Amino acid sequence: MLTFLPKSIRHKFILLIVLVAVPIAVFDVYQASNQKQQITEDTIKDLARSSQSVVNKLSDLIDTSHELLLGLSHANEITGGDTLACTALLHKIGEHFSKYTNFSFVNRDKYIVCSSGALPKPVHVLNSPNINAAFDTGKFAVSPFKFGVLTGKPILVFSEPVMNERDEVIGAVNNGLSLTWLATFLSETSKRPDERIVVFDGKGTVLASHPAHVFPVGEKVLTDSLLNMAGEVKNGTGMFQDAAGEQMIAAFATIPHIPNGAHVASFISMDVLQEQITVELYQRLTILALLLVASLVLAWVGMRAFLLNPIQRLVALADTLAAGNLHARSDVGDDSGELGRLGLAFNHMAEALDARTKGMARAIEDAERASKVKSEFLASMSHELRTPLNAVLGFAQMMQYDPENPLSEKQNTQIEHILSGGNHLLKLVNDILDLARIEANQTSLTPEDIDAKGVISDAIDMVVPVGEERGVTIINHFNEKPLQQIRTDAVRFKQVVLNLLSNAIKFNNKGGTVIVDGNITDDGFLHISIADSGVGIATREGDDIFNMFHRVDVDPMVATEEGTGIGLTVSKMLITQMAGRIGFESEVGVGSTFWIELPLVSNSNVLIWADALRVGIDAIDSDHQVLVSLLNRTSHQSIAATNLADIILELIDYTQYHFKREELIMTVCNYPDLDNHIALHRKMTKQVKELADEWHRHPNLETLKRLRDFLRTWLIEHILHVDRSLTPYANGKKKEILAALNSLD
Ligand code: ADP
Repeated sequence: MLTFLPKSIRHKFILLIVLVAVPIAVFDVYQASNQKQQITEDTIKDLARSSQSVVNKLSDLIDTSHELLLGLSHANEITGGDTLACTALLHKIGEHFSKYTNFSFVNRDKYIVCSSGALPKPVHVLNSPNINAAFDTGKFAVSPFKFGVLTGKPILVFSEPVMNERDEVIGAVNNGLSLTWLATFLSETSKRPDERIVVFDGKGTVLASHPAHVFPVGEKVLTDSLLNMAGEVKNGTGMFQDAAGEQMIAAFATIPHIPNGAHVASFISMDVLQEQITVELYQRLTILALLLVASLVLAWVGMRAFLLNPIQRLVALADTLAAGNLHARSDVGDDSGELGRLGLAFNHMAEALDARTKGMARAIEDAERASKVKSEFLASMSHELRTPLNAVLGFAQMMQYDPENPLSEKQNTQIEHILSGGNHLLKLVNDILDLARIEANQTSLTPEDIDAKGVISDAIDMVVPVGEERGVTIINHFNEKPLQQIRTDAVRFKQVVLNLLSNAIKFNNKGGTVIVDGNITDDGFLHISIADSGVGIATREGDDIFNMFHRVDVDPMVATEEGTGIGLTVSKMLITQMAGRIGFESEVGVGSTFWIELPLVSNSNVLIWADALRVGIDAIDSDHQVLVSLLNRTSHQSIAATNLADIILELIDYTQYHFKREELIMTVCNYPDLDNHIALHRKMTKQVKELADEWHRHPNLETLKRLRDFLRTWLIEHILHVDRSLTPYANGKKKEILAALNSLD
């Protein structure tokens, strides 16, 4: 399930952050596209505000002029016909309202009769559109934009009719408004650096612009596109092409009251607007990216500190515990958080395991001690039994062959019974003695390089007569194979082969066969198989048949002639001591194949315990034997075997246990080099653990071989050169050593 997910927490976390970041980024891009709309709208609003404020300003000024002129039109100085009074008033007003120029009064005949400025003689004004309009309509009138004759600057002129009581127009008051301030006003009004504003009349003549150089005042330089759009839109937004063909977006506004029309256009280039939108989008994305990177870094640092480090420490702790150091404890926080609780759970587990391991070690030791006592007892008992038994058998034989006192037939039959029962008993006693010796580590092996063919042929020759007696044929295929030399104890090897051969005959059917065969295994052993066509063994028996006194479907308390149930136990012990392995396959009613495997001379993965390795201190020797057999067991497992890890763990555990015992013995014996030896033990433990850790991390043949080679070399070196130096100090201290070891744990 969800196999695509990364395995490490680190990678999962990064994936999680990315998963969170993606919707945020999508949302931001969506927001950015909304923002694009917003920028366009804001820009249009800014443009409209510029245009509108120009129109408002002009409208205000026109309205002010209107109010001013309206007031004047009712003044007695104006209506009374007194030119001097009129001139004085207009002069005063002109001074006061400096924005306006040329206050004047035109009489019924359209002569300027008084003015705020100098007027040497009345001037006839017949063609003034605003004066004419005021006369014609009787209402306030505004001229189209004009350009001052002297200044060349644009101006507006206003006229308000003067009425008599009968509402007849009897003249008009006028003033002018110069628009020179308009350019400054435009530059103040403009909101954006890239904005352009132009004020122009209905014919396209420029009255003012910002920036001033873009559209020179008084010239008709506006494109038709702009002019048409302004006339069409009046007040609103539109697009047009400028003289260079560039697309512009503009806000238009129309100035009221002006004959022939007048417009304000504020605009910017569409390209500029687009660029601005792009820049803002990039800015936004850059900020988003920076924020994401910052949050990623923060989350990463936080995760390392609060999650990954504690987890790594817990993993390291678990590895240390798995490697056998049950004294290691978690240092991850208190018990409030999940990881703290996990750490505490580890601690509890380690304590429980430690207690159980110690208990097990104690139990194993007790069992070993009991087994040893039992073996010693059996060995001595067997010895005690053998002497009288030999006497019984000897005297029985003497009675049988005594020429002076020949036995009757009946007596002879009875003596035969005594001899047969006695021989069976002697075999039993001999077997038990053998077993007891092996169990008490009293057997000495002499490993040598031998050719297995010779030993097997000898063994077959020895059992052929028994086979013939029972009608069983022995076929030797082993002789035909080109096989290599093995390293083993020839006598013990022959003993095992004999035991297997005699079982194969004993548990065979009349007319049955026994086939002996062999081959070389991939991991450096000689495989010898002895297959019979006999009764077979039920699967449920399993490896039980290698247990002492175990006889299939036979009450162990009732010994029959068929056997004792010790042979296979002895065989397994001997084969194991010789760094080999033993096993069988069987089918009831079809037959059994028992096999043994012994190391070839070339196999350097195993170590055979021999007298040469004996230190002479029982506890240390038996520890060494356990270590050797554990080491050999690692060579008997395939790399994929699940119990290989257990064996390695047991090997490391036992090594530590052995160090502890050895150090105790050294203390008891007052060994002078104890400190150095302890330091050596620590170093070894560390090295073994490092190699075991490496094997746990990379469980392959190469790392296993390195661990095995190290242990093997160390075992030999340690035993031959270091532990031997302890032997002289242990002389005569057997009891003290035993007592000290009993008190351990
Ligand atoms: P013994 O042969 O003296 O009884 P062993 O330890 O050699 O003792 O064998 C134990 C038991 O295993 C036998 O009693 C027998 O029941 C069973 N066994 C051993 N070898 C065979 C075989 N080849 N076929 C069937 N059963 C066997």
